[in-house]
Amino acid sequence: MSETENSLCGTCEHFGNDIPEDTLVQIRINPQARGQSIAACDLPTNASLHLKVSAVSSCDAYSPAA
Ligand code: SF4
Repeated sequence: MSETENSLCGTCEHFGNDIPEDTLVQIRINPQARGQSIAACDLPTNASLHLKVSAVSSCDAYSPAA
């Protein structure tokens, strides 16, 4: 698995505060399989924009979910 594959939005701590917890868990387990899933990014610099990203998007502010 490449570094990019390890830093997908679906496994980022800022992803998914607007989707059900059980769905978020499934996305975190395998973001590639749930790549069409769209959810909010709550990174402070994005939150005011109400940014929505896919599970397989990414950015330099990636931080792995606990
Ligand atoms: S856009 Fe960046 S900060 Fe937001 S969920 Fe994706 S990787 Fe995380």
